[in-house]
Amino acid sequence: MSASTITPWVVGNWKMNPVKADALKLIQDFNSLLNNAPIAEEKCILGIAPISIALTTIQSELSTANRKVHTVAQDVSRISGTGAYTGEQSAELLTDHGIQYVLIGHSERREIFAENKDILNAKIQNALNAGLTVIYCVGESLEQREAGQAEAVVLQQICDIAAVVQAEQWRNIVIAYEPIWAIGTGKTASPQDAQAMHAQIRQGLNQITGYGSTMAILYGGSVKPENAVELAACPDINGALVGGASLNAESFHQIAQAFANTQ
Ligand code: PEP
Repeated sequence: MSASTITPWVVGNWKMNPVKADALKLIQDFNSLLNNAPIAEEKCILGIAPISIALTTIQSELSTANRKVHTVAQDVSRISGTGAYTGEQSAELLTDHGIQYVLIGHSERREIFAENKDILNAKIQNALNAGLTVIYCVGESLEQREAGQAEAVVLQQICDIAAVVQAEQWRNIVIAYEPIWAIGTGKTASPQDAQAMHAQIRQGLNQITGYGSTMAILYGGSVKPENAVELAACPDINGALVGGASLNAESFHQIAQAFANTQ
């Protein structure tokens, strides 16, 4: 399978947004757009990551769409199972509530919530062992890029998880390359720079796992309808993790269409 035959993913990361009424309207608008301009499931896998308290409400609202749109958790506990862990949601409890996808390693979790390699590895291990599919985010800071360390930083972040991912579990991992300087800033990596990094990631994944040629590698960082077509045309960019633009149903639908049209 060549990289360009991998089914693209377009996943909306709502972060700590929006209020309930707006969230429901957003899904209803998105469902109508999918009715008017369908996007075939085999052309694009779709997901939305709402706040944790809204996971099951959004999941039920998405179940009325004319196609599968996955509900994605934005986080999972580093503790597995059940027990006296106030505020936590384990991977097992997510799957018990019908959630099958989770984001891990987002730069906001790494930076604001001090999630280091050990914490992330515990989360990944729990998630995979519980049967979740993990969207694992990697990406360099502006300082690291300017110091010429971007590739080394990103490849190290992938090597970090290799210690806990069993061979057959790599098929349940999607990588999201999100240069930190492009997240929420309106600055996007140029398609050439993004493609170059994605090709490096794929080569690294091939060396580490042997599955690089079948793994989806998403780009994230100010993806919007205006840049989605160019990004989608890059052979090693297999979709997008979309923050701000996923809070607008039309923008999100247009981004999904851009990636679906590559198939
Ligand atoms: C993100 O946080 O995952 C993201 C890519 O955000 P934005 O699209 O707003 O840059």
